[in-house]
Amino acid sequence: MAGDIIIAIDGYSSCGKSTLARELAAHLAYNYIDSGAMYRAITLFFLRNNVNEQDPAQIMKALAQIHLSFIFNSAHNKSEIHLNDENVEHLIREMVVADKVSDVAAIKEVRSFAVGQQKKMGRKKGIVMDGRDIGTVVFPEAELKIFMTADPAIRVLRRFEELFPANHNLSLDEVRHNLEMRDYIDTNRAESPLTQAPDAVLIDNSHISRTEQLHMALDLVKERIAVLQQ
Ligand code: C5P
Repeated sequence: MAGDIIIAIDGYSSCGKSTLARELAAHLAYNYIDSGAMYRAITLFFLRNNVNEQDPAQIMKALAQIHLSFIFNSAHNKSEIHLNDENVEHLIREMVVADKVSDVAAIKEVRSFAVGQQKKMGRKKGIVMDGRDIGTVVFPEAELKIFMTADPAIRVLRRFEELFPANHNLSLDEVRHNLEMRDYIDTNRAESPLTQAPDAVLIDNSHISRTEQLHMALDLVKERIAVLQQ
């Protein structure tokens, strides 16, 4: 639709990027793409097929066998990721995938595979995508870029509360270790490290509610669309 924009949301793990992105997309009737889910699904395939991450030939062979798609699930009222036609939305949230995903996402071939598909998804605009390199690499031309952060202790607690209902053996330490490790790898990798784009608006949501953060973002969207229509 004329006036539709691209909204890129980046930030550290468990900052509430997906929550904000999903709510924004619902308000604006935009598509929401969880780019992290793509890296998680690729990781699940690598784990299931014992792909050696040090072997470029094995990596390329594996990527050629991976088909990723997002399919709307009306029962859950959201798009869910499918790996070769299997709904893996829940499986990719397990710790075994979380512990490996940042290593897999640091591989050059994996990034160009995912980024190529992500760029195509933005051709018609009207999209909210969250991840680590959306405003810097996938959509450097995005009309609105948001970089999210939050107090690490708050992030650990939020992630723990999200995962605990499905995994009662989980400890806070395990979640803390996983977030620290992923943040470290994501910010220090050679390929498209996590960094705030110079033109991104910073939102620290440590002490603001979901509704407040949504309204802040919606105000930014209105501003950007008004500028485009001038
Ligand atoms: O967003 P989520 O926490 O599900 O992402 C899982 C992992 O995927 C991140 O820790 C990061 O290693 C990787 N990722 C990435 N680039 C993106 C999105 C996610 O490298 N655009």
